[in-house]
Amino acid sequence: MIHREEILRNLKRYDHKKIKIGTICSHSALQIFHGARSEGFGTVGICTSDRRFAYEAFQFAKPDEYITVNHYQDLIKEEFQQQLLRRNIVIIPHGSFVEYVGAENLKKEFRVPIYGNRSALEFEGDRRKMRAWLQDAGIKTPREYSDPSKIDRPCIIKFHGARGGRGFFVVDSEKRYQEEVGKRIKEGTMTKSDAEEVTIQELIVGVRYYPQYFYSLMFDGEVKAGNGRVELLGIDRRLESNVDDLYRIPERARAFVEPSYVVTGNLPVVLRESLLPQTLDLGRRVTEASLRLFPPGMIGPFCLETVCTDDLEFITFEVSARIVAGTNLYPEGSPYSCYLFSEPMSTGRRMAREIKEGIHKKRLADLVS
Ligand code: AMP
Repeated sequence: MIHREEILRNLKRYDHKKIKIGTICSHSALQIFHGARSEGFGTVGICTSDRRFAYEAFQFAKPDEYITVNHYQDLIKEEFQQQLLRRNIVIIPHGSFVEYVGAENLKKEFRVPIYGNRSALEFEGDRRKMRAWLQDAGIKTPREYSDPSKIDRPCIIKFHGARGGRGFFVVDSEKRYQEEVGKRIKEGTMTKSDAEEVTIQELIVGVRYYPQYFYSLMFDGEVKAGNGRVELLGIDRRLESNVDDLYRIPERARAFVEPSYVVTGNLPVVLRESLLPQTLDLGRRVTEASLRLFPPGMIGPFCLETVCTDDLEFITFEVSARIVAGTNLYPEGSPYSCYLFSEPMSTGRRMAREIKEGIHKKRLADLVS
């Protein structure tokens, strides 16, 4: 287990005038490098050699330097951690970073300062902890069923640790649940232990919105939470295969097609302005709960996955405790960030701005873990 004192000792050894921003070349790395560069930071891409050309292809977003690895998990190795520390790197953890390196490895072995609170990643990665977080926030969440015999309405079945919706399916009774699980075990797409660990969650019908927030410790103003403010930087929704295009199939054929929920891309959206108070309040509540559950809380970017029902009520089914790929829609800012900042402000740039402000105020230690 890596203790905070050790990370802060490493941060103290950094030359704060030469801090660089680093991340794995994947997920939202172009946006992160582009944003860091706009704020005047040097950037370091951790990359496998086969991917490097894809970053070199974008001259305003490619990193200034690369650290080449064979496997992303190599980052845990002493030799690579030393390289990161020597270069004064603050790591930005995005979704692929956490997936490749592993939340457990980050907690137990990674001594390099990471922007944000590592405990938030732990809450995000464990469905039970995530639910406790959303419930502590006092916001509406879908009903969950501890046992298939209790299924009394359409439910979505989620795999433990499933990424990007892969393998999710919908049932409306215990009988259907057993049939579907049996079929999947036979096909080999599900194991018995998967079946023991699934989450059975009420399927919420409505329109999906994924608001992207930022909890700032450096800037004051509305919406207040703890000693900081919650910003709404953008909203997206995902394009999931095949459910989002099922309407294109003739109705008579639809009965034979099973919906799937695999994330393939994102679309920009804006909300009715009268729904903004609720949306901002969701962000504030989730931040305040994070301050109670894992102080110093949800530092930096996070996203809620919500469905807005026809009662104009948001039901939140998931939280991502880091930059989400949906922010890639707004490298030059969004229809919300432009009312907060007078220059193009992506989430990548927003993190760099916060780090810059932290350095300026000699409070960088408050922003990393
Ligand atoms: P997740 O892995 O939880 O982000 O879910 C992947 C996708 O499944 C979401 O983007 C939604 O389209 C869908 N989904 C998940 N949970 C629910 C729910 N409770 N009700 C309706 N759709 C859901």
